[in-house]
Amino acid sequence: MDLSCYPDNPYILLTPGPLSTSKSVKAAMLRDWCTWDADYNSIVTDLRERLAKMASDTPDYTATLMQGSGTFCVESCIGTLIPEGGALLVPANGAYGARIAKIGRMLRIPVIEEDFGETSPVDPSRVAELLGAHPEVTHVAVVHCETTTGMLNPVAEIGAVAKAAGKIYIVDAMSSFGGIPMDMAAIGADALISSANKCIQGVPGFGFVLARRAVMEACAGQARSLSLDLYDQWQAMERGGGKWRFTSPTHVVRAFAQAMDELAAEGGVAARFARYRANQAALADGMAALGFSTLLPRSLQSPIITSFLNPAHPDYAFKPFYERLKAKGFVIYPGKVTSADTFRIGNIGEVYPADIERLLAAVRQSMYWSA
Ligand SMILES: *Cc1c(COP(=O)(O)O)cnc(C)c1O
Repeated sequence: MDLSCYPDNPYILLTPGPLSTSKSVKAAMLRDWCTWDADYNSIVTDLRERLAKMASDTPDYTATLMQGSGTFCVESCIGTLIPEGGALLVPANGAYGARIAKIGRMLRIPVIEEDFGETSPVDPSRVAELLGAHPEVTHVAVVHCETTTGMLNPVAEIGAVAKAAGKIYIVDAMSSFGGIPMDMAAIGADALISSANKCIQGVPGFGFVLARRAVMEACAGQARSLSLDLYDQWQAMERGGGKWRFTSPTHVVRAFAQAMDELAAEGGVAARFARYRANQAALADGMAALGFSTLLPRSLQSPIITSFLNPAHPDYAFKPFYERLKAKGFVIYPGKVTSADTFRIGNIGEVYPADIERLLAAVRQSMYWSA
């Protein structure tokens, strides 16, 4: 299809999602689908199979798609997997870990939340201690890439601790799945959550939970919400050949199928990971040359998003810097950490090292009032 008649976006999004998508992903939304027709349901079934294959080489995993943003999926997973009488341990180091704990408390699930601090990774040996001290814990939930800072948590090591203690292990891989190679079996994850509009580079509207089949089968009747009943949704998709229980985001799903094709055409997750890493390296090096420091040391930094400290220069302020970059075609992101004055630049989406080089030139021209 010739897409040149469609306008280009006025700016690229250097954000953690929704992010810049290709024109072909957006163009995939230019037709309507019937939610009950096999044409559409076969797309859903195919996507579920492809996601399960992406999650692991072993065939134990099953994908359930859920309407809403990523948080809806986290809430449906927590609210459905944890039975009455269960308890949740959340080792956290940022806003998304804290959100999981909050979801648990809202659902009246006993939650043990341990804050490791925004600039320290979750420590697996401390998780082992906490599990020893809290035998009532049944489930452990952790964030893979803590998008608050851009930190990568050691999910495989935490998984080994959780599994050694016989716990169900849930990983929020919202901002990393599809962009960083991972295998759920190697991580020990019983469930893993992500959404359409992050590294798979689709548009927002639904998320998905990948889980071991046995874990899903054990969840009948446990959900604390009707619309977020992950078990029921899974059953509807399994039995109905790709049907959703309620109105399905048809256009978003079709765009996601296109995004999955484009991920495969790029060379799969390994190739996308290499591109994101090249983006992040170009960004970190170029910003360092302009005098910006990163919040995190390189060893803890993910290729997904980078937090920079706002410079203390008298001619610098974030808001005008942001506006001037936007006028030049780049939208960056405010900071989210509480312990330091930061802003963030994302590396994911339809963004290439050449875009980062253009961004760096724009940053050079936009940093100071006097520039
Ligand atoms: C984006 C994100 C979420 C979900 O956020 P929504 O705004 O609900 O889509 C959850 N966890 C992490 C780590 C994220 O990056």
